[in-house]
Amino acid sequence: MLEDKNQQRTSLSQLGEFGLIDHLTKNFEVKQPSTLKSIGDDAAVLDFKDKKVVISTDLLIEGVHFDLAYMPLRHLGYKAVVVNLSDIAAMNAKPTQITVSIAVSNRFPLEALEELFDGITLASKAYNIDVIGGDTTSSQKGLIISITAVGEANESDIVYRNGAKQTDLLVVSGDLGSAYMGLQVLEREKQVFQVNPNNQPDLDNYTYLIERQLKPEARTDIRELLEKLEVKPTSMIDISDGLSSEIIHICKQSKVGCNLFEEKLPVDPQLINVCEEFNIDSTTVAINGGEDYELLFTIAIEDYDKIKANPNLTVIGHMTQESEGIHLITRANTKIPLKARGWNALEE
Ligand code: ADP
Ligand code: MG
Repeated sequence: MLEDKNQQRTSLSQLGEFGLIDHLTKNFEVKQPSTLKSIGDDAAVLDFKDKKVVISTDLLIEGVHFDLAYMPLRHLGYKAVVVNLSDIAAMNAKPTQITVSIAVSNRFPLEALEELFDGITLASKAYNIDVIGGDTTSSQKGLIISITAVGEANESDIVYRNGAKQTDLLVVSGDLGSAYMGLQVLEREKQVFQVNPNNQPDLDNYTYLIERQLKPEARTDIRELLEKLEVKPTSMIDISDGLSSEIIHICKQSKVGCNLFEEKLPVDPQLINVCEEFNIDSTTVAINGGEDYELLFTIAIEDYDKIKANPNLTVIGHMTQESEGIHLITRANTKIPLKARGWNALEE
């Protein structure tokens, strides 16, 4: 649907495995001082000196995690990197390297993989990270991508999910729900396109939402911002499955409760408009929509003055005693228990 119609189709079998790896990886440059040996040997070699190393990995499967009908391969490559960097950022660490493993069926020509790797290259430049290895193999059907991200941090700077205190404030970066509504718009346009392939989608009113879905960014800037503000979060998580599900993770691991305030939820004006058009409640979307890749964290109440004027950060609630439970306080001042309606990979 959104894919550009690339005319040239070079069969992967023409290159062979090693030719393909060489071709796809030839543009990766080493930027990080911690990368001693990158692609080309049996393993990469890294040296983090006195820093701690954090590692996170993600697996993306065509038809489960992405749909190539509306996900251009370049965006897919970019997003596959970003979702991993977001996990490193959620540890309050600095991402430094990734490995990229792919399995592809011969339905993909070389040109398609070039687009995927263009997106990966773009992200690795934007976030100043090195691609230090991976694996390339064939699949019976569809595309599978697995990225592993590595990051560094001083031990004392690392933030876990389990450090929130009863009196802490709950803070989120950016805005919520837009990536989910972007997906709804793209799904709708896909249906329209399937009925009439000549129908070119008019997406002008949805640009922000679609960008949030197709080209998310990892909030690697928040670590630097908080350092400047002299605030260390007591707990942190990135929002991949939806706000409510992430709040519940922090609460369970930290053994605290939480009051989340509906009126405080940061949403983009475009989200409000499109929710009206789709007849969906924007609060439900902000709370349950996934893939925002914003950071959710708790801070000591004494730090409130340091963050209150920052346009990147919104205080959306406060923690409580565990026995008080986890609730949304609505605009009408009713108290509703928060449920993890976030996306569940194992759901039927
Ligand atoms: P091995 O036989 O040890 O698995 P490969 O021939 O698969 O080695 O890989 C050769 C080199 O290319 C290695 O450094 C590996 O990490 C790298 N590499 C292979 N596939 C990819 C990929 N998709 N992205 C980045 N690097 C890759
Ligand atoms: Mg290999």
